[in-house]
Amino acid sequence: MNGKTSHRVVIVGAGFGGLNAARTLASSSVNITVVDRKNHHTFQPLLYQVATAGLSPGEIAAPIRSILSRHKNVEVLMAEVTGFDLERRVVQTADSEVAYDSLIVAAGASHAYFGHDEWQTFAPGLKTIEDAIEIRRRVLLAFELAERRASAGEGDDQLNFVIVGGGPTGVALAHDFRAIDPRRARIHLIEGGPLVLPAYPEDLSRSALEQLQRLGVEVLTSTMVTKIEPGAIYTGATRMNAAVILWAAGVAASPLGKKLGVPIDRAGRVLVNPDLSLPNYPEVFVIGDLAALKDASGKLLPGVAPVAIQQGRFVGKLIARELESGASPLSPSLREGGSFDFHYHDKGSLATIGRSAAIAQFGKIHISGFMAWLAWLFVHILFLIGFRNRVLVFIQWAWSYFTYERGARLITGSTNLPGWSGPPSGDPSTSDSEEMTIVNHK
Ligand SMILES: Cc1cc2nc3c(=O)[nH]c(=O)nc-3n(C[C@H](O)[C@H](O)[C@H](O)COP(=O)(O)OP(=O)(O)OC[C@H]3O[C@@H](n4cnc5c(N)ncnc54)[C@H](O)[C@@H]3O)c2cc1C
Repeated sequence: MNGKTSHRVVIVGAGFGGLNAARTLASSSVNITVVDRKNHHTFQPLLYQVATAGLSPGEIAAPIRSILSRHKNVEVLMAEVTGFDLERRVVQTADSEVAYDSLIVAAGASHAYFGHDEWQTFAPGLKTIEDAIEIRRRVLLAFELAERRASAGEGDDQLNFVIVGGGPTGVALAHDFRAIDPRRARIHLIEGGPLVLPAYPEDLSRSALEQLQRLGVEVLTSTMVTKIEPGAIYTGATRMNAAVILWAAGVAASPLGKKLGVPIDRAGRVLVNPDLSLPNYPEVFVIGDLAALKDASGKLLPGVAPVAIQQGRFVGKLIARELESGASPLSPSLREGGSFDFHYHDKGSLATIGRSAAIAQFGKIHISGFMAWLAWLFVHILFLIGFRNRVLVFIQWAWSYFTYERGARLITGSTNLPGWSGPPSGDPSTSDSEEMTIVNHK
């Protein structure tokens, strides 16, 4: 701590929003405490690469402590925040309380199963490094099972991989599973709406669909999943065997939003003031995926990294500015008038569809195909700045591009796959009719 000030800013969450708020504020005379339940920051846009064995977990995550180590007025606490007492100005964890003068809540979002939480076990979502490793485990295990079946003379069937949800994550995963073993993998992408990547202009959505189909992905649009059970998925009366099912369909804000005790929307996002503060609590800010804020045209800001980054920087500057002026927080009436409002600068959006395939929108300019993919690659490497291993990621990427190899094919943890049974392993204690058990890895 620098000891120049007693003003303490507590930041909950070291994702894109929280980290950028901390870095922006770190040059001011404040004491900052960053609280996160993980010890690492995850670069979520590249999680799918870990899930599909293209990159290793350490290449897309970095310890929060190391990222912030050069800022002497920042302390990092690894703890799960359980609630808040806004009147007493404390953040609660399971075994302690952390007092604040200003609070920034940036706890992000998670998966929503639309009332079917029981599907989670059979169809995991992708949000954390742990999720990515679990998905990688299931996918590689399924290929191992197919290999064993083939070598035992039990047929050489294709494996169905089903991805539910045609947003950016679902689309990126769809192609990459096929890339692991195109001979064996049959990829199905199920989307409830009429288009994949529905947040993009229609010409780009259509282009994405065509690019996916060209890459061999079977896309089902306007189709709702009605039931998921171990190893099978239903769309109405149709049942499909599935070696691996993945959930990329719904997003729900962190439950911490509700714990703030202020109005939230249907997805659990906190309805913030235009300056991202809470009604009646000008010293409390909510940013990133957890905040619900509309732009000038009344459209809700999207749950994407640039929004969280810009909001983190904005709130950091706002607090610093008010502290310099001698009043933090300013009374809500002084923040009125628009000069303290957050405005999102949309510099464009990109979605990858697969090897040399992507779509990109920069204002009125719409690009698809190889050029869009190059732009996507460039932006993602650029975003990784601050990570010691961004050069390694670049080399790894270039290597896989030219050799078609996937370097991180590790199966870790359990060797059971829900809903699948392999050929007899010779060890009765490890066989189970509900689960696949693999004893020999090739
Ligand atoms: C698979 C995937 C792919 C994506 N791809 C893209 C993309 O290509 N482009 C793009 O712009 N955006 C993408 N996004 C969205 C982007 O990652 C999010 O919009 C962004 O991470 C939001 O930042 P945030 O700071 O609000 O939350 P997060 O980055 O999610 O950070 C939240 C932090 O809060 C911590 N936390 C949560 N609850 C607690 C608690 N109770 N106590 C303590 N700590 C807690 C978490 O551990 C985490 O570190 C993707 C997201 C996912 C999941």
